[in-house]
Amino acid sequence: MAKYIGPVCKLCRREGEKLFLKGERCFSPKCSFDKRDYAPGQHGRSMSRQRSRRESDYGRQLRAKQRARRVYGVMERQFRRYYEVALQRRGLTGLNLLQILETRLDNVVYRLGFASSRAQARLMVTHGHFTVNGRRTDIPSMLLKAGDEIAVREGSQKLTFFKELEKAVESRNAPAWLARDAKALSGEVERLPERVEIDGSLNEQLIVEYYSR
Ligand code: SF4
Repeated sequence: MAKYIGPVCKLCRREGEKLFLKGERCFSPKCSFDKRDYAPGQHGRSMSRQRSRRESDYGRQLRAKQRARRVYGVMERQFRRYYEVALQRRGLTGLNLLQILETRLDNVVYRLGFASSRAQARLMVTHGHFTVNGRRTDIPSMLLKAGDEIAVREGSQKLTFFKELEKAVESRNAPAWLARDAKALSGEVERLPERVEIDGSLNEQLIVEYYSR
């Protein structure tokens, strides 16, 4: 599945806020957004000022959609597909969409604290370091459901990176909808996340409005 390979920090500057896409770097003085908190490009500074003055409904819907897409590292086509699946599920479309995004394998690996960012989680998955229900998988977009078990593959546990991972994992919090065994580098999806357990800065209502125009 395709992924964005352009400059990541520009995405934060485009959205006008920190999206925390680069793990530890985002909390260090190296963060590009802390140094230049205006949109990228020649007219970035003036555009950022104009945007805060006047933004149309469409503009706000578009930004909400782009923001969510960038936070989860999903390309437009797949994001739209997720929206269509969310539409068909029972319940609130916006919440369904966020739950779909949260239950992607790369996001679950990140939420379990096995990676410092979703991008790193994605890489670890594509390199085949994880198993789902005992079977090796390298598909970051795989959608998990309640009862699914995730673990670092036995062969990978011998690697220095994973041997040293336990301490880092323990320092990161896992959400209540996931059960984690930091020592065994494994976890389980206990249920779908509730809205309060998902990033509060995402605006699913605006995303739904964007796609139902
Ligand atoms: Fe965004 Fe992180 Fe880059 Fe800062 S370091 S601009 S928060 S991706």
